[in-house]
Amino acid sequence: MRVTTAFSYHNTYNMSNNTDVHVAPSEMHEQQSLRALRRFDIGDVISPFSASQILAQPNYLTIQLSENEHIMLQPEWLQYTNHSCNPNAFFNIETMQLECVRPINTGEEITFFYPSTEWSMDQPFICKCNSVHCIGYIRGAKEMADKDLANYRLSPFILRKLRELE
Ligand SMILES: [Zn+2]
Repeated sequence: MRVTTAFSYHNTYNMSNNTDVHVAPSEMHEQQSLRALRRFDIGDVISPFSASQILAQPNYLTIQLSENEHIMLQPEWLQYTNHSCNPNAFFNIETMQLECVRPINTGEEITFFYPSTEWSMDQPFICKCNSVHCIGYIRGAKEMADKDLANYRLSPFILRKLRELE
């Protein structure tokens, strides 16, 4: 996800000898990104996750669990999972696992669709993911058109909120 520019471009990140993924600069933008060190297939668990902190308000690093629960990710390097409009991973808040939803090749960046967990985003942004189906302006699911959400796996919390709007 969202990356701070303060993070040195050449730093290596302590991944606790993780051999499945690593953090490296993205070729699309000058940001750090989470990248696969092996192939993942649909349904594979890329990493379990938990909350290092639970916040009442979202920030650019949090994942939303419920109305007033926004978690800071543990392991911390999961914060480098960036957004894509053609994501290959999904933060499953029921199992608390980052899951592969599209085959990922070794070296490929691991991405998720922010509105899949975020109802109202702290920092909406213009997406430059280069996907053919890039949506452009990325906001929380609350502000996105139904047609733009239709093709994505969404968290049970987001699905419930969308039903409430109908
Ligand atoms: Zn995009």
